[in-house]
Amino acid sequence: LSFSSCYLPEKLEKNLESAGYVIPTPVQMQAIPAALERRNLLVSADTGSGKTASFLVPVISYCSSIRLRHVTGQKNPLAVVLSPTRELCIQVEEQAKLLGKGLPFKTALVVGGDPLAGQIYRIQNGVELIVATPGRLIDLLTKHDIELSEVSILVVDEVDCMLQNGFRDQVMRIFQALSQPQALMFSATVSKEVERMASSMADDLIFISV
Ligand code: AMP
Repeated sequence: LSFSSCYLPEKLEKNLESAGYVIPTPVQMQAIPAALERRNLLVSADTGSGKTASFLVPVISYCSSIRLRHVTGQKNPLAVVLSPTRELCIQVEEQAKLLGKGLPFKTALVVGGDPLAGQIYRIQNGVELIVATPGRLIDLLTKHDIELSEVSILVVDEVDCMLQNGFRDQVMRIFQALSQPQALMFSATVSKEVERMASSMADDLIFISV
């Protein structure tokens, strides 16, 4: 499998090439085609495996296809990535900006440490992707009117870590605020508890382990 056999938007393919992503990593080879088919995934993958691009490529591909189909000026978020720490969220957003360059693909970072007002303003101005820590996103949802009904992809990064740090209820609350999104879940270790949480968010899960 190569990136060019995935029928990605041309611009995304160019951006992958510019970033030096020529050959998909093993996790990308398995996860990207399945995610592009809108399947729910639980992927066992460590940092360094290329897991970030394995969810960003389908997210960017989906977002740009939707925007091209309806040129109606709609601006509600289409995808949410949940990651446990501010630093991880920043890294994900950086890679998202790099791979989504030149496409109708704007991102908002929703993490602690920066003023909430700026994050809300950015979302209200129209973004395709929100990259958030669970607590901060809940904060934003309870205090402000953010329309998440069009979110069609939910990525949960580091599911094992999310369980350990008591993020579980927050992640489930966010999931329940969405309208049955495609779920792309990633975890370094896949315990019974990780499986249980993943299964509670998605039917017909595909398990990927490399
Ligand atoms: P990650 O596992 O997502 O943290 O990615 C680890 C590193 O691999 C990051 O620095 C990426 O920029 C890089 N990377 C991801 N996919 C590829 C690829 N297909 N080819 C070369 N480098 C990649």
